Amino acid sequence: MTEPLIYDISSPGRTGVNLPDCDVPQSELPQHLLRQDVDLPEVSELQVVRHFTRLSQLNHGIDTGFYPLGSCTMKYNPRLNEDAARLPGFAHLHPATDEEGSQGALALMYQLQEWLREISGFAAVSLVPAAGAQGEFAGILMIRKYHQERGDTKRTKILVPNSAHGTNPATVSMAGYQAVELPSDANGDVDLEALRAACDDTIAGMMITVPSTLGLFEAHILEVIQAVHDCGGLMYMDGANMNAMMGVVKPGELGFDVMHYNLHKTFSTPHGGGGPGSGPVAVNDKLKPYLPGPVVRIVEEEQGDVPPLYGFMMPEKSIGRLKAFHGNFGMHVRAFAYIAANGVEGLKDVTRMAVLNANYLRVKLSDAYHIPYNRACGHEFVLEGRFEGVEEVHALDISKRLMDYGIHPPTNYFPLIVHEALMIEPTETEDLATLNQFVDAMKKIAVEAKSEPEKLRTAPHTTPVKRLDEVRAAKELVLCCRPIPSQADSAAGG
Ligand SMILES: *Cc1c(COP(=O)(O)O)cnc(C)c1O
Repeated sequence: MTEPLIYDISSPGRTGVNLPDCDVPQSELPQHLLRQDVDLPEVSELQVVRHFTRLSQLNHGIDTGFYPLGSCTMKYNPRLNEDAARLPGFAHLHPATDEEGSQGALALMYQLQEWLREISGFAAVSLVPAAGAQGEFAGILMIRKYHQERGDTKRTKILVPNSAHGTNPATVSMAGYQAVELPSDANGDVDLEALRAACDDTIAGMMITVPSTLGLFEAHILEVIQAVHDCGGLMYMDGANMNAMMGVVKPGELGFDVMHYNLHKTFSTPHGGGGPGSGPVAVNDKLKPYLPGPVVRIVEEEQGDVPPLYGFMMPEKSIGRLKAFHGNFGMHVRAFAYIAANGVEGLKDVTRMAVLNANYLRVKLSDAYHIPYNRACGHEFVLEGRFEGVEEVHALDISKRLMDYGIHPPTNYFPLIVHEALMIEPTETEDLATLNQFVDAMKKIAVEAKSEPEKLRTAPHTTPVKRLDEVRAAKELVLCCRPIPSQADSAAGG
């Protein structure tokens, strides 16, 4: 049954709220701020609940179906995390509460710093950055300050492989550096010769994602790190893909100087519409004094039954604050709960299962699709969304058709070095039956591409909104559930 729009069921005088009598003196509202022309629907509480529940069901989410969005790690967000974040002592703590009144929260942040430090193999962690991109920015600012403090000011460039996530070169520019793009070799690794040729005393450092956005563990990572260190540069690891390494490989031990985590990827905190991000940074001893603050430290060691006393501090030569207060604390609670619930062995299993699931899909799909760098992968892999002899079918059409099978499209057209790229990351939280359904759907689509290409070109057919003009939809946002007459039948409605 199609539910009527909430505006169509509006009935004058109907209301969904029942306010108590006013127990404070009423005052005049500022008349110039009041609008008479806001045509709000008058509806009951039940009608409002049905309206929003129905809207929520029009969207695809990790709670409604498979979501193999490569690099973004759309894993299940355990409800235990949500329970922990809603504990009143955490949820109601005002961010301006003094240190004495927030010891529990500080203890949690301290422990999370320690766990993330341990998993990274680095010397220290700051939880402040609010996203992966902000962690990158913090990392490059630390590298910049490190060189500046040493009076080493001719370093103006940062190396970035051509498989990098767009935020990497953007971070480099934001921090005032010039990005120098490095080619990949035939195996999808950084071209070592090109790297060595680019390394000189104008290089401030290099940003590299491990495993790469192709899902491949850089075969020559130690040589890459060595080459950059030899010319005096520092190494930044984009840790968005830690789901392939957590508990198994420590970036600090590989020789990196700094990395960021995405708690909203690897550590199962919600993202997309579900919540703000969190991108803690981890550094070695060289960069420890430059960490963004405040970080949590122990002010007085524990004594007998008396727990330690925690406090905030700004690291000695800190790049400063990046954000109001102390980072996205609610996400720290969720990540803490995730690590505590899994334990050391559990986190290793997460990594192993994520890698196993990705390799299973890679092998199962390699008959039906061309996989350009087809070797053992990490937590994700990239295939080509195109077929010989059917030039009119593109990766986008495959993605759109997947929606008809109830599956969220993989990441499209990234990394840029693969033609018609479809980047697939199943995550560890999907079972064999779901993986097999995905394989079936992808194989059916490969057959349809040849027999009924038009079906792909015009997909999706079963979703509430059909194929959008994505450029127009982004530029002419329609944020109202009521069709705007001039756009009622245009592609941009949504
Ligand atoms: C997601 C991602 C980022 C950026 O992280 P945000 O939290 O979205 O800012 C950076 N690099 C890679 C490889 C990513 O997948």
